[in-house]
Amino acid sequence: NKFEQLGLNESLLLAIKDLGFENPSEVQEKAIPVLLEQNTDLVALAQTGTGKTAAFGFPLIQKIDAEDRSTQALILSPTRELCLQITNEIKQYSKYVKGLHTVAVYGGASITEQAREIKRGAQVIVATPGRMQDMINRGLVNIKNINFCILDEADEMLNMGFYDDIVSILSDTPDEKNTWLFSATMPAEVARIAKKFMHEPAEITV
Ligand code: AMP
Repeated sequence: NKFEQLGLNESLLLAIKDLGFENPSEVQEKAIPVLLEQNTDLVALAQTGTGKTAAFGFPLIQKIDAEDRSTQALILSPTRELCLQITNEIKQYSKYVKGLHTVAVYGGASITEQAREIKRGAQVIVATPGRMQDMINRGLVNIKNINFCILDEADEMLNMGFYDDIVSILSDTPDEKNTWLFSATMPAEVARIAKKFMHEPAEITV
């Protein structure tokens, strides 16, 4: 099994088996070993449908401390639909990791309920930028100690006008975290975010 050679642990390999994934996709083959072995920032140029959610999701799940219930990772994505899709995938990938909780945070649903889920202990938050900013403003979430921040479909988020929200949210996270940025294209605004918030990122293109 080629997933074993990428360094993934037994809980992930079991979940991968259940899902019926036979071989890693190109972005998974390139990203997973780098993210598992190094504490590094990453810029990955990859389209949707290439398996990028697992490319960041597998190493993230392996690096989260599931015995610590504090928020350790923030995944930002452009839309409610994508936010729910990523949450669903992360939950499937982490089904054999006891104590790992993922919560979706997006507009148009009860903020109180989302805050309650976070408070119960969610290591991974998957959020749209607008609702995330709202939660921070209301003091309903603490991302000051996260270790990982993932920007998914960064070009789409910036196209939708989330530049200010993203800058504000990232400014609320610690400098020492690792940031993994996924984007189909690299327009000036994405490059500006990368330059402002990332340190010597590894780069991959698929
Ligand atoms: P994504 O690009 O992350 O949106 O993934 C696209 C779809 O491919 C999702 O439905 C995944 O569950 C599926 N997928 C991801 N990685 C693999 C793989 N290695 N083998 C088969 N299907 C995969």
